[in-house]
Amino acid sequence: MDHRRFLVSTLIGALCGLSILLPAANANWYSRSEGIMGTNIDAQLWHTDEAAAEEALDAVIGEMHRINALMSTWQEDTQLAAVNREAAEHPVSVSRELFTLVDRALEFSALTRGAFDITYASVGYLYDYRKGIKPEADAVEAALQAVDYRFVEMEAATHSIRFAREGVRIDLGGIAKGYAVERAIAMLRERGIEHAIVTAGGDSRILGDRRGRPWTVGIRNPRTDGDVVTRLPLADEAISTSGDYERFFEVDGVRHHHILRPGTGESPREVMSVTVIGPDATTTDALSTGVFVLGVQQGLALIDSLGPYETVIIDAQGRMHYSSGLMAPAASAGASR
Ligand code: ADP
Ligand code: MG
Repeated sequence: MDHRRFLVSTLIGALCGLSILLPAANANWYSRSEGIMGTNIDAQLWHTDEAAAEEALDAVIGEMHRINALMSTWQEDTQLAAVNREAAEHPVSVSRELFTLVDRALEFSALTRGAFDITYASVGYLYDYRKGIKPEADAVEAALQAVDYRFVEMEAATHSIRFAREGVRIDLGGIAKGYAVERAIAMLRERGIEHAIVTAGGDSRILGDRRGRPWTVGIRNPRTDGDVVTRLPLADEAISTSGDYERFFEVDGVRHHHILRPGTGESPREVMSVTVIGPDATTTDALSTGVFVLGVQQGLALIDSLGPYETVIIDAQGRMHYSSGLMAPAASAGASR
């Protein structure tokens, strides 16, 4: 099928976050919501058998817990936490799965010329978004010495990870949720399920269509809770949104949010949200974060070079920018009004 699609016209809906139009009540749709990985997990699937549907939903939730237990940096007993504690001293052997995901993250660093960089965490950990604490300039300066994805050395033979210098930390917050929804959908597909959506915060992976119609995922207005600026009809696809409104605080009118420019340790302010759609959720997740850092011009150029991926960027003035495979709604509306 042609990858070009038409954006449905601008709509305002009383929906929050990355909103999904729920299918009409139907005995054959089953759903589950839970808070895992510091975010909301939602899964919906269509099934003819209730017990099998519930088992599949259990499997999705179990998979989210499993991935969280491997990759969280909030808990001390995860493999990733061990890497951060010890990899500057000696190579730390990790599971093949974690090794592979870190390796993919490093590939996205090369692709985005360092805009997406999991070592952002070397400086990122100094911010406390809950308490609204921003580090002093000299602390940022010192921590920046450890920000560079090339400091992460991968040894395939032993799946070990080593840091080239002291102070390096990595965090998979910009890619792990996309990976998790991709994995969850793979498990549903293995069970013969043909229609499903799994969402983890700003990342969704869709399997099939909504039985004859596309799924419809809204892009929210970054400055008005509950408004949706446009909707994308999707089938068999992933969609990820990175926004400056998810986790942030303001100091003297300046917004400090959870995405950092690796070169400066500051939040980029050229755009308010970036949505990326395409076949693979791990990729859309990493790219939405990467394009957020790259900004409008470089972000569009990158996505246009990637074939099956498309993007909708909302800049700081609320203007919407579309990659070349997407057609803007006829009445182009600003996102901030
Ligand atoms: P969300 O977590 O809301 O879905 P993103 O996918 O954009 O949003 O991920 C943001 C997360 O990515 C941050 O919370 C942080 O863990 C991580 N991150 C921040 N800056 C970068 C960066 N430059 N490169 C890679 N990861 C980043
Ligand atoms: Mg992301």
